Order: sequence, then C-alpha cells, then structure tokens
Amino acid sequence: MAAVQVPLPADYVDRSPEELAERIRAAKAKLGDRLVILGHHYQRDEIIEHADFRGDSYKLAKDANLRPEAEFIVFCGVHFMAESADILTPDHVKVILPNLAAGCSMADMASIFQVRRAWKDIGTALGTTEGVIPVTYINSAANLKAFVGEHGGTVCTSTNAPTAVAWALEQGEKVLFFPDQHLGRNTGVRLGFDPDADMLVWDPFKPMGGHTPDEIQRAKFLLWKGHCSVHKRFSVAQIEAARESHPGVTVLVHPECELDVVRAADLNGSTEFILKSVENSAAGSTWAIGTEINLVSRLAKEHPDKTIFCLDPQICPCSTMYRIHPSFLAWTLENLAEGNLVNQVQVPEDVKVWSRVALQRMLTVWA
Ligand code: SF4
Repeated sequence: MAAVQVPLPADYVDRSPEELAERIRAAKAKLGDRLVILGHHYQRDEIIEHADFRGDSYKLAKDANLRPEAEFIVFCGVHFMAESADILTPDHVKVILPNLAAGCSMADMASIFQVRRAWKDIGTALGTTEGVIPVTYINSAANLKAFVGEHGGTVCTSTNAPTAVAWALEQGEKVLFFPDQHLGRNTGVRLGFDPDADMLVWDPFKPMGGHTPDEIQRAKFLLWKGHCSVHKRFSVAQIEAARESHPGVTVLVHPECELDVVRAADLNGSTEFILKSVENSAAGSTWAIGTEINLVSRLAKEHPDKTIFCLDPQICPCSTMYRIHPSFLAWTLENLAEGNLVNQVQVPEDVKVWSRVALQRMLTVWA
C-alpha cells in the first residue's frame, strides 16, 4: 500500500523558512474551503502553524470528518493516520500525505503476513482461535485493522485501551494485542493482570512466537513484540534524575513507555491526556514529560507560567514525523492548487470494508 516519494523539484529545495511559509499560506488561501490540513502534535511548529486541526491520532481520526464538504485532507502526520482518515471519510474526499516516506517504525513491526501466520500458530496451539480476540493499536496499517474487524476484534488508542481490552476479554478468553507490546502490557497491568503470569511476548520471527503450546494456552495476553522507538528511550534513571534536580516535579509519561517507567512515573496517559493534565495544572507547577520532543517544547512555550521539560535530555523527535518538512507541504499544496493531485493515500476497497468496521466500533463504543 505504501508508495515511493518522488524527489522534490529544485524549486522547493533550500528555500528559506519564510519563503516556504509564505508559499504555503498563498496556496492554502487559493484552495480555500476545498482544503483541510490536519497536524499531529508531534509535528514541528513550522507545520503546526498551518494546521486547521491539531490532535493525536485518535482526535485527528475524528476531526477528519469535521468538514465533510472539503475535497482534500492534507494529513501532516504518518502513513497509518492518513489511511485511517481515508477509511473514515466520504468517497469524494482525497487524503494526502505530504511525504510518502513518513511512516511509523512501530506500525512497520507487524505486517499482515506475520499476523496471519501468528493467528494460524495460535490456532494450532489452542486447537481453535475461537476465544482469541485480536486488538490492534490505531498505530497500525489498514490491513491489520481490517484483520481485527473481520475476526471480531477492535482498534484501540492509548486513551481507550483499557476499555477496549476489557471489552475484548468479555468477548473471549485471550487477547492478541499488536503491534505495541508496551501499551498492551501497561493496559493489562492497569486491568489487574500479572505481567509475568498472564502475559507473553509474541516474537513474529520465531515459530509459534517463541513459545510452547502450553505457554500459549496459559497466557491471557499475547503481546506482539513491537515498540515505539521514541517512547522506548525513556528510563527509570531519567525519572530519578528529574526528581533529584526538580524536587516536587510531576512525572508524566505516555503508555507506550516500558512498564517500569510507567510504574516509576506519577501519571501516564495519551497525548491528549498529557495536554489536559498540563493545561489544568496550577501555575508554578513543574512537569517532566516522557513523550515526543516537539510536543513537550510546544507545551513549554504555551505555558510559560509552568516549568516543563522532556525526561530525555538527549532530545527525542519522531524521525518519521519529521519527514513532513515545510518544503513537502508547499509542494503538495501548490500542486493541488494547480489541479495536480499528488501523494493521495488510498486504502483498497476490500480492506476499507473491514477496517471501517473495526474503527467505527472503537469510535462509537468508546468515543
Ligand atoms: S512516535 Fe512512535 S508510534 Fe508515534 S509515529 Fe513515531 S515511531 Fe510511530
């Protein structure tokens, strides 16, 4: 489904930030109501300033439908987000990713071929897959969302994962959770399960995920061996250092972090939870935040009355989100304004049917 990004024409290379911003504004004005720009919180400021709506992947999946009369949604985020927008919007809306190389390393850790093979192996170990409910994090390819839709499962986000997983356990006895093992584990622990006794990590590169049939039978959670390269960087040592340098600090991390980090933090939650927690906090409060640096830096700028810093002193941008450079946005919008459709992300119809079932289930049941 992913396509190759063509190199930018010379006219877009080495242009000053001011010139690019001006060209983006001009093309956007020319397109008027035909265009909606969505900006994920992890995008750089030079992109966010042009966004009509800003949010995390869950909020933007809903925002994609706020202007159904629009012709183009330019999604400044990564590939799986553009796919979700294409699945959820009417057929006349064209969803565009300014740089097709903007993927997600976590989403790439689970392919449909690997998931189908795991499903077969689980069926062999248990004698049936009945009673196994697949749950995919929204950070996954459209064909994985279709897989869960077709097999009685659901999509979840970091906001609604506990509710979605609790629902899955009411439908069956086990959950196959992909692609992020950490969100799966943190969610299971939050629901009262034991990470050692009740969970195993499914390694897609090993036969039977690296387990015996007996181990698979005993586990309640089969957690896909995937992770987010940004959130995996945060550590307990960083939390200890933050507490030492800033007594009274509140440590807030994303649930894509490892379990020991989540346990050592004061709070954990989705991007929108992080934003609201900081927004609603008292002036003078101090926050050490374990998530992507563009978001943390923007929060610090928008709340000068609070001390806000990133837990990781080495800085940790999402390198794939960063591929949406203003030069790509300018190229995309100027092409659209001239009548050239570029970089459309289109989910095949057969995949759309079941992935829409899975996404709509999430949006209607746990909105
Ligand atoms: S921050 Fe992690 S999960 Fe989010 S897009 Fe980047 S690699 Fe993927």
